[in-house]
Amino acid sequence: MLLRLFAISLLFCLPCLNAQEDYTRLRESMVNTQLKSRDIHQKATLDAMLKVPRHAFVPDNVKPYAYTDGPLGIGEGQTISQPYIVAFMTQALKLKKESRVLEVGTGSGYQAAVLGEIVDSVFTIEIVEPLGLRAKSTLENLGYSNVVVRIGDGYNGWKEKSPFDAIMVTAGAEEIPGPLLEQLKDGGSMIIPVGPHRGVRQLVLIEKKGDKLKRRNLMAVRFVPFTRAEE
Ligand code: SAH
Repeated sequence: MLLRLFAISLLFCLPCLNAQEDYTRLRESMVNTQLKSRDIHQKATLDAMLKVPRHAFVPDNVKPYAYTDGPLGIGEGQTISQPYIVAFMTQALKLKKESRVLEVGTGSGYQAAVLGEIVDSVFTIEIVEPLGLRAKSTLENLGYSNVVVRIGDGYNGWKEKSPFDAIMVTAGAEEIPGPLLEQLKDGGSMIIPVGPHRGVRQLVLIEKKGDKLKRRNLMAVRFVPFTRAEE
């Protein structure tokens, strides 16, 4: 009887085991062919990209494409960025374990998880409630207790948790929100796609040194728009 139960459970579990192994292989291949072969070399970023199960953050209908070299729809008209862009933005912030990071635009929660693999504390804000709630439960189920999700308009940042060592905005803004710059620590960095509505934007890296802001355009990108809560 016991043997039969064991055989049956093995039969049912084998496909799951294979699926997990397949995802691990797809993730390894993603890191080798999409990241290392380009300009992603920082160990912490590569390790995080290798570890975070991207397929767990996307809806079932796009899971088979979770590790492909492009963005994916996550519902509510929003997208999860291409793995390379996630890695590029993460690497650009030069994070340390003790960094406190703010993300604006939680979306699926995937980018927040990548940050959460590298630093002690991540605060992330999502304006679309169903997305924020789904991301929160995905992150909880995967054990990311160091990532805190808030539903709301991220334009004003998260004052009570500031200042931040790093800020990442993952929605395309027409201008850089002033409150976010204020909540950045001296010596901190912020990365944000900036440019005209619906157009190609520049991924801008801002470094704060005293009362000076050093601004550099890193590359041209397309992002879903940064929206504002209605007054
Ligand atoms: N980082 C996400 C993808 C971001 S897509 C991931 O890893 O999946 C951009 C997200 O920014 C969308 O979910 C969108 O709803 C959100 N967003 C747009 N404007 C915002 C705002 N003002 N405050 C917070 N979130 C915003």
